Amino acid sequence: MNAFKNALRQLDGAAIIAATDQSILATLERPERIVEVNVPLTLDSGEKKIYTGYRVQHSNARGPYKGGLRFHQQVDINEVKALALWMTMKCAVVNIPMGGSKGGITVNPKKLSRAELERLTRAFTRAMKDVFGPDRDVPAPDVNTNAEVMSWIMDEYSQLNGKNEPAVVTGKPLALGGSKGRDTATADGGFMVLEEVAKKLKLKPKQTSVVVQGFGNAGYHIAKLAHQAGYRVIGLSDSRGGIVDLRDKGMDPDNVMTRKKEYGMIGDMYCIGSVCDGTNYKAIANEKLLEVKCDILIPAALENQLTEKNAGKVKAKVVLEIANGPTTPEADEKLARKKVLVVPDILANAGGVTVSYFEWVQNRQGLAWSAQKVRRALEPIMKAAFNEVWERRGRYQTTMRKAAFILALERLSEAIRARA
Ligand code: GLU
Repeated sequence: MNAFKNALRQLDGAAIIAATDQSILATLERPERIVEVNVPLTLDSGEKKIYTGYRVQHSNARGPYKGGLRFHQQVDINEVKALALWMTMKCAVVNIPMGGSKGGITVNPKKLSRAELERLTRAFTRAMKDVFGPDRDVPAPDVNTNAEVMSWIMDEYSQLNGKNEPAVVTGKPLALGGSKGRDTATADGGFMVLEEVAKKLKLKPKQTSVVVQGFGNAGYHIAKLAHQAGYRVIGLSDSRGGIVDLRDKGMDPDNVMTRKKEYGMIGDMYCIGSVCDGTNYKAIANEKLLEVKCDILIPAALENQLTEKNAGKVKAKVVLEIANGPTTPEADEKLARKKVLVVPDILANAGGVTVSYFEWVQNRQGLAWSAQKVRRALEPIMKAAFNEVWERRGRYQTTMRKAAFILALERLSEAIRARA
């Protein structure tokens, strides 16, 4: 499945409704720049390998290119192009002055040692030294990258430039100028959106069941927030499979995390301390998890999870896209016909890049905001974005995804026109 083709279908579909100027649409249909590098790495064993990495700069019409860096064996140019386009749209939806880009290395980082990963990251940064920059293009964490990877990039880039350059990446450790709240920002923003949805649909947490696919940073944290707020988290999974609560009572994601840490996988039992229940809680394959009867389904893993094949079997009322691109256009159509409310990635997961922007602002001002200040700044942005999307959904009688793209296209068109 070609993620970029899917992204273009989303863009073009919204552009028709928004009556976007043809020349502006043509600009947004192609990334401004594509950089591919082949980076040599000497493994700990002495063996030499070459890894291919990408940075796609989609648009800087509204500000410096901004977007994460992904380390995954599935990374290819079409995926990175799609992810870069979505970043442009996402930053416009939340109205932060940033453009869109994305990067990735085709590698399974779980097969590398920490030292190998560091050497690979530093070599990639050297190859990208004229591509990255605080005013040019600012990477951040994404799938399989974290604060530690960001600190290697920041350090390598600073050494190359002979000066401290904290604003070249976001999602750094606090000790190197990272922002409070950045680690949980994607989930925090997603949960703020979820609460707005709950208000509109009059969902009460206790009567609302939630299933989360993906137990990485964003998936784990949003499951935790939902559980803490009283939602019943009845299904969870990581890349190796998941667990489902047959009694619908709900699980504490921290208990599942404890077991995952112990066994390296979620497993087929739900344990509270040393007491495990393997009767009412069962292992479930990732594909089946998406079909579990629940109110809110949260894909928080990779692209193309909800497809033409399984969309008809989704039983949730709401799909909250914490992953980027989890729903294909064919699945989108099926879900819309079934009246499933799909809250799109470019709105639902935009909390991460919004706090990245706060981090960049703090770095440039030499300031460190309190956690409370970050939260107080994030909340009105997420709420405003949600309401602006919701309003367009009603005005154009369309899906939330199209409404979000329409909002982004309005803002991008204005910036592109103002530069012309
Ligand atoms: N990787 C995240 C995303 O897809 C964050 C990007 C950023 O903070 O620049 O939105």
